[in-house]
Amino acid sequence: VALCEAEEAPPARSVPRVVESRFNWKLFWQFLRPHVLVLGVAIMVRLPPLLHPGDGVNQGLQKPSRSCTEAVFPPPRIAEGTSQKQPGLAGDLGLEEWQEDLPRVASLQGTRVHRSRKPGLFPGRHWCVCMSRHSVDVSRQCGRAQGSGEGEQGLLPGGGGEEDGPSRFPPPLQLALGAALVNVQIPLLLGQLVEIVAKYTRDHMGSFMAESRNLSAHLLVLYGIQGLLTFGYLALLSHIGERMAVDMRRALFSSLLRYCWGQGVSRAGAAAAAAAVAGACPEVTTPSSPHLLSPPATARQDIAFFDAKKTGQLVSRLTTDVQEFKSSFKLVISQGLRSCTQLAGCLVSLSLLSPRLTLLLMVATPTMMGVGTLMGSGLRRLSRQCQEQVAKAMGVADEALGNVRTVRAFAMEQREEEECRCKAEELGRGIALFQGLSNVAFNCMVLGTLFIGGSLVAGQQLTGGDLMSFLVASQTVQRSMANLSVLFGQVVRGLSAGTRVFEYMTLSPCIPLSGGCRVPREHLHGSVTFQNVSFSYPCRPGFEVLRDFTLTLPPGKIVALVGQSGGGKTTVASLLERFYDPTAGVVTLDGRDLRTLDPSWLRGQVVGFISQEPVLFGTTIMENIRFGKLGASDEEVYAAAREANAHEFITRFPEGYNTIVGERGTTLSGGQKQRLAIARALIKQPTVLILDEATSALDAESERVVQEALDRASAGRTVLVIAHRLSTVRAAHRIIVMADGRVWEAGTHEELLKKGGLYAELIRRQALDAPKGPRNP
Ligand code: ADP
Ligand code: MG
Repeated sequence: VALCEAEEAPPARSVPRVVESRFNWKLFWQFLRPHVLVLGVAIMVRLPPLLHPGDGVNQGLQKPSRSCTEAVFPPPRIAEGTSQKQPGLAGDLGLEEWQEDLPRVASLQGTRVHRSRKPGLFPGRHWCVCMSRHSVDVSRQCGRAQGSGEGEQGLLPGGGGEEDGPSRFPPPLQLALGAALVNVQIPLLLGQLVEIVAKYTRDHMGSFMAESRNLSAHLLVLYGIQGLLTFGYLALLSHIGERMAVDMRRALFSSLLRYCWGQGVSRAGAAAAAAAVAGACPEVTTPSSPHLLSPPATARQDIAFFDAKKTGQLVSRLTTDVQEFKSSFKLVISQGLRSCTQLAGCLVSLSLLSPRLTLLLMVATPTMMGVGTLMGSGLRRLSRQCQEQVAKAMGVADEALGNVRTVRAFAMEQREEEECRCKAEELGRGIALFQGLSNVAFNCMVLGTLFIGGSLVAGQQLTGGDLMSFLVASQTVQRSMANLSVLFGQVVRGLSAGTRVFEYMTLSPCIPLSGGCRVPREHLHGSVTFQNVSFSYPCRPGFEVLRDFTLTLPPGKIVALVGQSGGGKTTVASLLERFYDPTAGVVTLDGRDLRTLDPSWLRGQVVGFISQEPVLFGTTIMENIRFGKLGASDEEVYAAAREANAHEFITRFPEGYNTIVGERGTTLSGGQKQRLAIARALIKQPTVLILDEATSALDAESERVVQEALDRASAGRTVLVIAHRLSTVRAAHRIIVMADGRVWEAGTHEELLKKGGLYAELIRRQALDAPKGPRNP
């Protein structure tokens, strides 16, 4: 008892949480900040070498971060400047492999090698081979090689190597501002040019060429600068935007799942993993690292969360929404900043040219803006509905594609598609109306300017050149405002996409992943009780699956749970794994409430679960078994495989334990898959073993081999056997018949037969069915 004192944490309840549906600016800044900072540092560090290109060699290496160690390879044989990213280097180098790989790395002669450990979203080790100013990240992941004991070892490829050295560019903000200011200058110069033209139209004296040459040259230079600045800030913005998007995708992904060699992968999680990894880190899917194709991950959110969400919806957040947010961000910065600066600059020029005309503009503009904002808020709402509909339709489509054999056109996706189309069309009409109206307004403004400006020229209060400048500047104002109006729609879409992306990042699971007390193995007996447990699934609160359910699993004994399908047997297993917490009553392990125990310890070391449908990952047999225990040695894997009757068939494969099993284990037979799942459960030497219809999907021959393995695995453990076929549970120490969400009757096979109750009835019915089903006794 002393092992677990004072850990009576207030039991967490699995209640649905109110989700924050507003854009999370704080989180957004967290993603943006590192890139902005990197770029800030870039100006300080990189601008001098840009100005004096000669001393730029190895600039990034001269000030290595404190955590870097540096080694310099033999003198350069690769010509300076030809060094590019080396694709061949992007392999996985573990710490141990580092030494062996020196020759390979050294073949890049003239490179300096950085080893750095850098904390990040996915802690892992990074080795950077820095070549001149190009840095190559050769590290990627090495969690497997190190066999770290911590569950959090990051397996997602680490942050890109380029981030290690600051970028060589000044921030896009400055470039965008520069471009905008140049744009403000241009109308004024154009006005002056028109003045000269006008002068020569009147007087026909002197040399027009001589007088206009300087001005024209000035204008040409400005046009050139403007083009360059535009290119610069757009390129940079895409640099920041892409990085931010990758970070966001990774963070969102890790808020759904957690990378580690652990246990308890949800279906939605596994699918999302593949999508996210493909999207966020395309390099992972290269054939050179097949073992990363389906990285092991554990659900980070509550299982209840995944019950309620469709994979398609989650994948859509990871892909479409992040994409949408990123493009909006880029557009807002590039167009928005430029338009705003131009607007402000031109308004200043305008007021200098003609205060009266400017006043007119100033009255017209806020009025238009007001109307625009009103329309915009309507559009925002529509856009949100539209995106929700798209996600919903994607969810249906994803599910249909995933189960295409079963689905066979339920016309469900058609309905969702239809609604989706209606909403999108409505949104399109709204945006069209908005833009049509803005066009009319802007054209009226031009006409008004010409009309009033013309009368001012006629009254000699304004020169023709000034009116030209004014017109060009007001055209710029018009363009900027048109841009802003288009941008507004994008901002609306971007914000709602961002809201959806950030929403899950702030969610924390009701059942924590870890934390609470652990019981040392030598003190663990494995006695489990369910005391007056009632339970309904969080996504179906009104429907009680278990009602006042009481059950004891004595240590080292086999208890069988039988009953009709849908009676709640799997639910009992889920409660024992603490995928959910009971609505009432308690589940205890050795007398301790499960809610006070460390869930990761419970699932990772105490409870082994073997279900009807084994879930395998598209990696090697070795890794699939090792998935049950973080950092297990090869010997442990072999031992578990032997115990599970799997060693023999594995060693008969040409590649043995290194055989890749295909996506979800498609290249194996049902019985083989199940034996791998058993080996995976046994490798952690669980105290409590749950067998949920473990043999019911198998043919008679496979069942025999698997059953043999199960019988061997059951010895000395507390076992809960859930079975549909009663022949498999005769030997159990105790049989519990479930009905109506509670224990209907209990006893040994003989006792229950003698009693003549529900169990006897079930046996009789199965015996009647026997001639029809060859698998029945
Ligand atoms: P059994 O294993 O005895 O066939 P289950 O425990 O799987 O039955 O299911 C018991 C009841 O709980 C069923 O009515 C089923 O519809 C419902 N149920 C099972 N899983 C979930 C879930 N994730 N969310 C909501 N209801 C569920
Ligand atoms: Mg079941």
